[in-house]
Amino acid sequence: MTIVATRIDTTTGNGTVLYPGDPGWDEARGGFNLLVDHRPEAIALPRNEREVAAAVALARSRGWKVAAQGTGHNAGAYAGLSGMLLVNTSRLTGVEYDLANHRVRVGAATRWGDVISPLSDRGFAALHGSSPLVGIAGYSLGGGIGWLSRKHGLQASAVTAIELVTAEGHLVRTDAVHEPELFWALRGGNGNFGVVTALEFEVQPVTRMYAGVMFFPAERSVEVLRTWTGQLPSFPEELTTWATILHVPPLPEIPEPLQGRSLVAVMGVFLGDEADGRALLEPLRALGPEIDLFGLQPPAAIADLAMDPTSPMPMCSATALLNALPDSTIDAVAGLVARPDSPILMTQFRHLGGAAGRPDPDGGARDCLPGEVVVYAVGVVPVPEAEQPLLGALTALRTMVLPHRAGEYPNFVEEPADTSRFWGQDDWTRLRRAKALYDPEDLFRGNHHIPPEA
Ligand SMILES: Cc1cc2nc3c(=O)[nH]c(=O)nc-3n(C[C@H](O)[C@H](O)[C@H](O)COP(=O)(O)OP(=O)(O)OC[C@H]3O[C@@H](n4cnc5c(N)ncnc54)[C@H](O)[C@@H]3O)c2cc1C
Repeated sequence: MTIVATRIDTTTGNGTVLYPGDPGWDEARGGFNLLVDHRPEAIALPRNEREVAAAVALARSRGWKVAAQGTGHNAGAYAGLSGMLLVNTSRLTGVEYDLANHRVRVGAATRWGDVISPLSDRGFAALHGSSPLVGIAGYSLGGGIGWLSRKHGLQASAVTAIELVTAEGHLVRTDAVHEPELFWALRGGNGNFGVVTALEFEVQPVTRMYAGVMFFPAERSVEVLRTWTGQLPSFPEELTTWATILHVPPLPEIPEPLQGRSLVAVMGVFLGDEADGRALLEPLRALGPEIDLFGLQPPAAIADLAMDPTSPMPMCSATALLNALPDSTIDAVAGLVARPDSPILMTQFRHLGGAAGRPDPDGGARDCLPGEVVVYAVGVVPVPEAEQPLLGALTALRTMVLPHRAGEYPNFVEEPADTSRFWGQDDWTRLRRAKALYDPEDLFRGNHHIPPEA
């Protein structure tokens, strides 16, 4: 497919390419999950679009496929990178704010933490998720569910333009007008259509939010989760809450009252005033949390509200979108994961629905998610013997929630998977058709692979 719109010649670049054993090789190929040990044929570290195009040309000349990666937070979804050139996009930096138009433009290397505070200082919030270390590119290309999604939808739908180097080695700007079908496919189709160099997206004017977390001892998981799910139908789209059972490691960098504790936490963000927020959370507060940190906050305060890990870990996870979380399932799951000796370190239930569950007519291939709740559970594997008990517990958890399964959210799927199951038949066919149009030779391999239509 020859793309004529907004084409820029990118044929003159070159740039750093590492081969196995070169200094910096391990750092450049590493991801967030230390169990993942990908060995690509080479790694390109482009500093600009021209060097991205040079990398794509190099891969073509060697007969390699191309996998783009920014932070490696979802590196585990690749079955392997053998026969591939890894394009490490971590040098494609740069952020521009156009807040008169509620827009931000970021280079592909930008992480949420780079923009959250500058936006907050100017009275804006983005549709980021739980970790400031996650890359905006991979998060947005896969969907993106965060604290504001029930009110404002998935981050993929907030994206207004994407620039990428295509299979032909051209830099193309896609938006609702230029290459709209490619723009549709990119917003959900992750790295299957090219190497993204920059994205632009809409942000929301927000100055204060009623946000925080309540902690209870993990022994109270059943009553806290039952109360939480009982309240969900009455929560407005302005309120997003997550309930998490977690076993906090005894590390000195963690606040002393939480160190080494097994807890159940209800975290939340309310886009409204304190009085209304307090009223909505009253049934949970009436349970008597041991620690209650809710209060009026600037948007920057929620960057790290979920207390996600900041360092790479050896880990295994499980996830599912759920239509319901009935009491019997809560009882079974709490019995498995709230025990202090559970190999599952954290089990999180996030309230979905609202705008996150509604199709967006201007959105892309991932414009909404089915289900009322998404569950994500994770444990660490500090020694090889820890892996089997953890995998067994994750399998048991999957079985417990299976009767209520509504699907899966690809960004939370951290192992190789059958990508076709992430879409309905119509969208899957459309994605494969777009792939055949824009990358017929299947040069680009996203973490969740979309093959071209035959
Ligand atoms: C600690 C943690 C917290 C998380 N919290 C949330 C959350 O709150 N909400 C949520 O929705 N998700 C969350 N996620 C999941 C996250 O959205 C995915 O892992 C996402 O893929 C990460 O994007 P990345 O760019 O950081 O990772 P990467 O592994 O670098 O990229 C993931 C994939 O995106 C594609 N990609 C990335 N950059 C490019 C590029 N420049 N060009 C083309 N393709 C590219 C590739 O297919 C790549 O394999 C979390 C993950 C972790 C580990």
